[in-house]
Parts: sequence; structure tokens; C-alpha cells
Amino acid sequence: MSDPTRASGPKIIAVANQKGGVGKTTTTINLGAALAEQGLNVLIVDLDPQGNASTGLGIEPDEREYTTYELLLEDIDLSDVIRPTEVGGLSLVPATVDLSSADIELYTNERRSFLLRGALRQAAMAGFGFDYILIDCPPSLNLLTVNAMVAADSVLVPLQSEFFALEGLSQLMLTIREVRTSANPALRIEGVVLTMYDARNNLSQQVEADARANLGDLVFNAVIPRNVRVSEAPSFALPVLAYDTTSRGARAYRQLAEELLKKNTKLAA
Ligand code: ADP
Ligand code: MG
Repeated sequence: MSDPTRASGPKIIAVANQKGGVGKTTTTINLGAALAEQGLNVLIVDLDPQGNASTGLGIEPDEREYTTYELLLEDIDLSDVIRPTEVGGLSLVPATVDLSSADIELYTNERRSFLLRGALRQAAMAGFGFDYILIDCPPSLNLLTVNAMVAADSVLVPLQSEFFALEGLSQLMLTIREVRTSANPALRIEGVVLTMYDARNNLSQQVEADARANLGDLVFNAVIPRNVRVSEAPSFALPVLAYDTTSRGARAYRQLAEELLKKNTKLAA
């Protein structure tokens, strides 16, 4: 690897899909919790002005003094914005609605696509000891999402097991390709994970078959079922792994984490 800071630093994964409500935030929180359960040190960066990952991990808006906004646009250290969560090994950089103006403010900045990368490089340099950084992207292919892709080693794409799931995926892949040719040639696709899967529903099965036919090995074997415990957990400010540790949702996210770790040790070997 040509970049020494990256080689020794955390693996950075952008969780992205420009569609809203497909399971990005849920996947970020619960994959993060599952990796932390494995003893890894995980940082979640909330890059969505809606701040759902922050709320879902129990950091209330009035407790978000320093956020991703300051990290991107003001001269502030990563150490000042990292917050511990109730989950051991899982930390968070929170977001507020302030971030919604960042997309516009960034346009006048020469380094507009590189701001998150610059900020997260500190994570590698300053010895925070993170193994994984997961970035929860907004439901848009805007400059915030581009910042995530420029900062990341790979992109993880949650795909909702619904009609039209695959639509829009080509736009996402195009953006990934653009980022590769411009700012981040090493950007990989970590994989595609099917979310809100309902095994009794023909449509879910059809989406899975289409996804596997079109995307092959990119699709994780682990499939996240539609599970009410998963949707209840954020209102208790917990990942489902902590809220109902034996639920189907929790088990599926553990499988996803295991599969991801296996893939990554293979790559590193
Ligand atoms: P996004 O971040 O892509 O907008 P979310 O992760 O917020 O999507 O999920 C959208 C909604 O679907 C939320 O209300 C969430 O609780 C719910 N949800 C996500 N995954 C599941 C699941 N596996 N089972 C049940 N509900 C889910
Ligand atoms: Mg979200």
C-alpha cells in the first residue's frame, strides 16, 4: 500500500444508498455494535443531517455540542467530537440539522471533497486505536456522500428487499466510479446487504434472486430480516444487539459482521 497512514489505520466503510429508508442507519448502528461485540474498537460518523444514528445511540440533540459539521467546516480536532455510547467499544461523532447547510457551504471550499478524509486521517495519526470507522451517509448522492466515499476504503450498500430496490443502484455505482477516477482510486465495494427481508414474501425472494444474479459475490450471504425488534431498538437508544440480543435481527447483524471480518482478513492475507 502506498499510503502509510491508511495501511496502519482503521478500515473506513461508507454505508451509502441515495434512497431513504433502506436501512443505512440501522445497518451502521448494528454492524458497528456487532463489530464492537467482537472486541473491535468502532467509531460511527453520523453524516446525515437527520441525525438518526446519533438519536439511535442515545445522544440527544442538546448533547451534540460538537458535531460532524464542526469536524468538516471548522478547525476542530476529532478528539473533541467523539462521544462514547452505552455500547462498549462503540463511539460516535454525532450530527445535527446544521449539517444540512454544509452541503452548500462546502461548494466554495477548494478542498470540498476531501474534508472528511482529512479529519479522519487524524484517527490514524493520533492513535485513537479504532479498528473500524463506519460512516452513515445521507439519502442523497450529494457532497456529503462524496466526502464519505473519498474518505473511505469501501462502500457498503444496504438494499431494501422491496420493489424498485435495484433501481438507482446504477447511479450509485456511477458515483463510486467517478470518485475512483478522481479522488480515491482505491475505493472498493465492500458489498451489498439485503435488508428488511421477508422470507414469506415473494417480492423479497425476487429481489434477492435479482440482486444475486446481477451482483454476484458482492451480495452478502447474510440477509437482514424484517424484524420488529430492529425497528423498536432505536427508541430505547440501543442497537438491537443490546436491546434484544437473541432476536433474529441481532443474529443477522452478527452474521453480517462475521462475514465482513472474514472477507477482510482474506484480503489482508
Ligand atoms: P435509512 O438510514 O436508509 O434511511 P433506516 O435504517 O433509518 O434507513 O431504516 C428505515 C426504517 O426502517 C426505520 O424506521 C427502521 O427502524 C426500519 N428498519 C430498518 N431495518 C429494519 C429491519 N430489519 N426490520 C424492521 N424494520 C427495519
Ligand atoms: Mg439514515
